[in-house]
Amino acid sequence: MRLFFALWPGDETVAALSAVAEEAARRWGGRPMRPETLHLTLAFLGEIEPGRLNQAEEAADGIDAKAFDFSLDRLGYWPHNHIFWAGCTRREVRLQGLAQELGDRLRERGFALERRSFSPHVTLVRKMAAAPQPLPDLPACRWHCGEFTLVRSLSAGSGVEYQKLASWKLG
Ligand code: ATP
Ligand code: MG
Repeated sequence: MRLFFALWPGDETVAALSAVAEEAARRWGGRPMRPETLHLTLAFLGEIEPGRLNQAEEAADGIDAKAFDFSLDRLGYWPHNHIFWAGCTRREVRLQGLAQELGDRLRERGFALERRSFSPHVTLVRKMAAAPQPLPDLPACRWHCGEFTLVRSLSAGSGVEYQKLASWKLG
């Protein structure tokens, strides 16, 4: 099973981000993410034996973080994977803290996560050939984070499909 932990945006955030994704794909090409697939990855586990699912859940069970808000307020483009994304200008301490705590607890249980530093972003458009010049502004988009979710990634004929397996509420 291909698994990852992520935050799923609320309806208003989805509406704002998908409008930006549609418009960007129309202007600069690429495939906009479908609204229901928009997410922010906290930790990517990769291919995991189904028998280890409970260890991933155990890592999440012990998280002791409070709910928090943060803002997505910038757009960016990564040339290496042709992804157009929304992210944060400032370091969002609570968000970083949650990803760090979850990552630590997963590593303690033997999951091999990437060492490269956490770079919070929401992929908006895939397969965009080149960076928009100049990059447009993103009106600050507020996100209330009250829970996080364990997700299974399935490749479907029509693209990727995400299946939510379980969610954990933040205090
Ligand atoms: P596809 O790979 O089929 O185009 P996808 O990238 O959305 O679709 P996955 O590769 O299963 O699906 O990735 C699920 C999530 O985990 C995505 O948000 C992706 O950006 C992130 N992710 C994938 N690989 C890594 C990685 N090596 N390190 C960190 N995050 C990753
Ligand atoms: Mg991928």
